Amino acid sequence: MSVERGLLIVLSGPSGVGKGTIRKALFERENHNFSYSISMTTRNMRQGEEDGKDYYFVSKEEFLKRIDEGKFLEHAEFVGNYYGTPLDKVTEQMDKGKEVVLEIEVDGAMQVKKKMPESILIFILPPTKNALYERLKGRGTESEDVILKRIERSNLELGYAKNYDYVVVNDEVDKAVDKIIEIINAEHCKTNRFLDNYLEKINEK
Ligand code: ADP
Ligand code: 5GP
Repeated sequence: MSVERGLLIVLSGPSGVGKGTIRKALFERENHNFSYSISMTTRNMRQGEEDGKDYYFVSKEEFLKRIDEGKFLEHAEFVGNYYGTPLDKVTEQMDKGKEVVLEIEVDGAMQVKKKMPESILIFILPPTKNALYERLKGRGTESEDVILKRIERSNLELGYAKNYDYVVVNDEVDKAVDKIIEIINAEHCKTNRFLDNYLEKINEK
């Protein structure tokens, strides 16, 4: 019998809400078979980031060439830089039964839902608007100017939350991760995802 295809889980939310922190904590939980989709970007590498681990860092020319070649599942511009999800890795990992996690902004998430309606879209909300500024400031990776541009963009992004399948407030990281695990477990029990495969399996026994 074929391997049950893994889920495609999309995490979005305004810059500084804690997507990266939540994703890393999620991957540390046991009994799950996650695979992180490493995006491609034209933005500059931050201190502590590694090419091929945090992102594939490429030039704008290289990025545009890949768009033309149809190599992205989705791509978008975010505060002056391009970001995109390489398609081949996503399908390869899902076919192996991995739960593939994308950490992407709202425009890209809408493209994913259109192309892969079975994907699960989770929007991470801040406990307060001010927490975004405080968290970005505390992270210390962007200039004040870039922080303000990202905060400005967060208004638009929060308006997209209603298009997501689930919303999770990141007040405490561990609680947010618990909720995401609950969502994933419930999604595995969805009739249309589980039943056909299961009936096939019990018939084989
Ligand atoms: P994003 O990936 O959404 O831009 P990060 O994961 O980089 O956000 O988090 C931004 C900053 O906020 C980091 O310094 C992180 O340590 C901090 N942070 C994340 N979650 C919380 C939380 N629940 N409470 C307080 N600080 C948090
Ligand atoms: P950052 O520069 O903080 O790493 O990312 C900026 C924004 O781009 C974040 O909202 C992040 O989730 C999003 N992002 C990262 N990778 C991708 C991607 O492959 N596609 C899209 N659409 N957004 C991405």
